[in-house]
Amino acid sequence: MSEEGARLTELAKRRGFFLQSSGAYGGVAGFYTYGPQGATLKDNLENAWRDRYVTREGHMEISAPDVMPEAVFEASGHLDGFDDMIVECPECGASHRADHVVEDNTSIEEAESFSTDRIAEIIEENDLVCPDCGTELADQPVEDFNLMFETNIGPGSSSPGYLRPETAQGIFVEFPQLSEYARNQLPFGVAQIGKAYRNEISPRKGLIRVREFTQAELEHFIDPEEDEPPIARVEDVTLPLYSVEQQQADDGDIQEVTVREALEEGILADEWVAFYLGLSKGWYERIGVDMDRFRFRQHLPGELAHYAADCWDAESELAGDWVEITGFAYRGDYDLKKHAAHSEEEFTVFKQYDEPVTVERPTVDPDMSVLGPEFGGDAGAVAEALEELVEREPDAFEDTEVTVEVDGDTYTVDTETAGYSVEEVTESGEHIRPHVVEPSFGVGRLVYTVLAHAYEEDEVDDEQRTYLSLPPEIAPTTVGVFPLMDKDGLGERARELAEELRGAGLEVTYDDSGAIGRRYRRQDEVGTPFCVTVDYETQEGNETQDAADADGTETVTVRERDTTTQKRVAVDDLAETLVALRDGDLSFDDL
Ligand code: AMP
Repeated sequence: MSEEGARLTELAKRRGFFLQSSGAYGGVAGFYTYGPQGATLKDNLENAWRDRYVTREGHMEISAPDVMPEAVFEASGHLDGFDDMIVECPECGASHRADHVVEDNTSIEEAESFSTDRIAEIIEENDLVCPDCGTELADQPVEDFNLMFETNIGPGSSSPGYLRPETAQGIFVEFPQLSEYARNQLPFGVAQIGKAYRNEISPRKGLIRVREFTQAELEHFIDPEEDEPPIARVEDVTLPLYSVEQQQADDGDIQEVTVREALEEGILADEWVAFYLGLSKGWYERIGVDMDRFRFRQHLPGELAHYAADCWDAESELAGDWVEITGFAYRGDYDLKKHAAHSEEEFTVFKQYDEPVTVERPTVDPDMSVLGPEFGGDAGAVAEALEELVEREPDAFEDTEVTVEVDGDTYTVDTETAGYSVEEVTESGEHIRPHVVEPSFGVGRLVYTVLAHAYEEDEVDDEQRTYLSLPPEIAPTTVGVFPLMDKDGLGERARELAEELRGAGLEVTYDDSGAIGRRYRRQDEVGTPFCVTVDYETQEGNETQDAADADGTETVTVRERDTTTQKRVAVDDLAETLVALRDGDLSFDDL
């Protein structure tokens, strides 16, 4: 593990952000428990996500089950195609992700985009060895490994189920009903925050590659012919883009361009994806992602998921590596089409025309009194074939005869017997299959990024200090409340104030143990942005309340974490002030 990773993992465990779970039994790779600080940090990130992508955009949110039946994943393509490449060590038996073995030991990036055969060749050409025991991996088969966790629904094995590998399918399968909730009006968005499970071959790097994680996904259903995103809202946002072209150029680099420029220059091909990149940039800044360690990278052609037409990842830099934190994919109508083909439902939306339109519709009305004697038991099937053909290929009926195939046999029928005609019908609308634009966020990777990017060290009063410069909105604890000393009534007053602040909806920690400097350091390490201290001046405020020569205002100090600056604030204004500081309605400088 990198130095940054080790430092963060140590802090995370000691201070209650996250730890490997089931440690008493040796721990299981790829499963983490969020501690008290981490669970709140994760909640805060999820709420900030909900605020940005659901509430402010007017979308719906649902919560679907984690276990879904096999049919869902047969339709979605996950059963067949949701694989990673695995190579096993012939000596120690350890399994490794073959593309990672290549990436870690050659200059090749994004090896995921190569075929298993090519990866096997590269392993051989470069004499790559088992990362655990050093045995040569040449000649070892590189195979596809399906990442889904399988289970049985009910007793026995007749009804296999899978833990969902992405939350998205829980939205797609309910599309017919969700579309009703949206009154069949496109575009509409459906979001979900929930668990996803992937049986990763080699989980690693703390929360980065785990086997159970939380996703926050939005499926935005659009009419591809008509709906346009509100691009004007984001067109001036500057994006750090790393396109396929730049990735493949010798001196390729990240380009800083506005959304508008990226669309004009064709770097971004799709306006909807452009809209979401623009919208998201500001959100990453809001939650504390360091923009100097951030980029949007386009998927290389071989890397595209089985469903995606174009895809960009938001990536954050962690200990020198770029890590995908969000995938932005244009999924087209892939998912809805698949579910329509595999189920009894249509997965379409009825689009009403502004005015009814009259269209010409070619039809057939086969004369069974002729077909029966001529084709005997096959007459019904011939009639059906004619009905299918007229929908598919009406031109075939323009001659005097038409030919259809049934089970490999050819049948020729007069167009008159087929009853071919062109009718005029009035239609009030049509059934269309929406396309889907999907931003898919990994919450654990966001937690990890935000912590790594917030990690700071400096010196205060000649002492080394570690602090997390988390945005106040995201920090797990907003306010630490301390009495200068737990005597002379200071502790009592501080406890009262802590209660009051909790009542105002703030996350508050009360701490009276140890020297005040230590208590500040403890809060700095978990990223608490503000500390309130009740001291003897607070009390003077109390005591002078009756004195004629003082205004009797009771005050406390409020200390800001990053600068360690302290200001005195009237207790009467304290809760309101802290809420405004947390919500970004007031800056500490302006206090
Ligand atoms: P994907 O469907 O692979 O594009 O994943 C969507 C998002 O889920 C990614 O951007 C990641 O943030 C997150 N993610 C995917 N796999 C994992 C994993 N094994 N551990 C943690 N997060 C993951």
